[in-house]
Amino acid sequence: MTACLRCHKGMDTYSDTTDKGAQPTTDDVSLCLYCGDLAAFVVDGENVSLRPFTEEELAEHMKNQDIINALAIRQLVIDKEVING
Ligand SMILES: [Zn+2]
Repeated sequence: MTACLRCHKGMDTYSDTTDKGAQPTTDDVSLCLYCGDLAAFVVDGENVSLRPFTEEELAEHMKNQDIINALAIRQLVIDKEVING
């Protein structure tokens, strides 16, 4: 099992915002629901790991509306959990 590069929480599941049955492929974007970190999947056979984005890659991804929406939804869930305890 791989872990988030920032918060080190284990990543035990994946989901795709557009295809529920999808598995990650190399360079797909990973969003950690715990801390919001963005990273790139690295898939080698059965082995799935993460690598940090370069500054250029991150700047490009931050223009992607799907990623912006995913980050906003994550923040709404976190805020709701904080409010509701
Ligand atoms: Zn994290």
